[in-house]
Amino acid sequence: MSNPELNHDYWMRHALALAKRAWEEGEVPVGAVLVRNNEVIGEGWNRPIGRHDPTAHAEIMALRQGGMVLQNYRLIETTLYVTLEPCVMCAGAMVHSRIGQLVFGARDAKTGAAGSLMDVLHHPGMNHRVEIIEGVLRDECAAMLSDFFRQRRLEKKAQKKGPEPLI
Ligand SMILES: [Zn+2]
Repeated sequence: MSNPELNHDYWMRHALALAKRAWEEGEVPVGAVLVRNNEVIGEGWNRPIGRHDPTAHAEIMALRQGGMVLQNYRLIETTLYVTLEPCVMCAGAMVHSRIGQLVFGARDAKTGAAGSLMDVLHHPGMNHRVEIIEGVLRDECAAMLSDFFRQRRLEKKAQKKGPEPLI
């Protein structure tokens, strides 16, 4: 594609950079970016621990910012890029906000609500259907999470062991 801004990979890389910020803050690294007419109108990264807010998922943060930017609670004709398949809460928020399209990287087999555990976005009873594209930069998105959890396990192990004896 000649215009990199029209490329799903381009925006997913942006979401990955936001996920890295979550990691730096000690949160599970998930990032989200809301795009309209090839412009960013919302950015979010996972931060429930730091914010003492169970709803502070990357997607919710990006949708909230998008609403402020558009001065509208309906976020029509927008695309939300997320590094990980959304949970039930975030998928529900996507329906409420009327986004047009969800693009996500890796699947979340345990809690994914865009096809893995369930499919909130294509539920026949829903009054709004969100188009889903999945698997964009899947390997990078999955590696971000597995690397994070691997590092966390190593840190916990090191803590348990305590400092190495000097002799
Ligand atoms: Zn969520």
